[in-house]
Amino acid sequence: MEIIPGLYSLGDNSGGYVRAFLIDDGTELTLIDTLLDQGGKLVLAELDSLGKKPQDLKRIILTHAHQSHLGGLAALKAATGARVYCHDWEADIIEGKRKVEVPQSTTLFPQKPYQIYALQVAFVLGLRMPPPCQVDENLKDGDHIGPLTVMGAPGHTPGSITFYWPEKKALIAGDIVSTWPEIALGWPQITLDNKQNRESVGKLCDMTQAEVICVGHGQPVIQAANQVMRDLVAGKDTNPVLLGAS
Ligand SMILES: [Zn+2]
Ligand SMILES: [Zn+2]
Repeated sequence: MEIIPGLYSLGDNSGGYVRAFLIDDGTELTLIDTLLDQGGKLVLAELDSLGKKPQDLKRIILTHAHQSHLGGLAALKAATGARVYCHDWEADIIEGKRKVEVPQSTTLFPQKPYQIYALQVAFVLGLRMPPPCQVDENLKDGDHIGPLTVMGAPGHTPGSITFYWPEKKALIAGDIVSTWPEIALGWPQITLDNKQNRESVGKLCDMTQAEVICVGHGQPVIQAANQVMRDLVAGKDTNPVLLGAS
């Protein structure tokens, strides 16, 4: 689904409404995250529907190394020849050399939001690990990739990175904010450091002027995203306008 010209949202209701994002900057295609889908089928179908070939996808960049966002990675790298980028801290998890870290306070005991209990269980038990994939290059805060500026946002994981497209005032944020089942500063039971995550979102408010924020789970916020993030950081109620809502 097109969010704004050149920025597309991919995903269905699986993986806690997990979302990936495709960017067409007029010269190259960039994919951010790869959904839970192990064959990368949803992404390949989206490329086809846009009249693009698999080889048109030049790069795949990852917000962080949680299972729901990596399912299609290995298959898509093989099918497209795209180069894979992520933060250094996440790379060896993606390559299958290290396990995903679970917060010490998170067990099989149900925690809010209860709608993600199945994902919490999968997370704690280390289920649904995606096929490993080689990372080609590391990214860090301040780097530029395609039309995007890399903005470090540690907290959800130490290597969480976000991507700001200044021309479009769009921030692709991964799991530092979620809009499903409700708008929140991510899902606390799978966030390694919730206090640091809040600080990172606050920093992004100061450093960007985002109108749109694309989140890892749920529909994007399509108006006044910076104010929505400020409200979340301040602990205020907020009423975001989401893609597809009427
Ligand atoms: Zn995550
Ligand atoms: Zn996630």
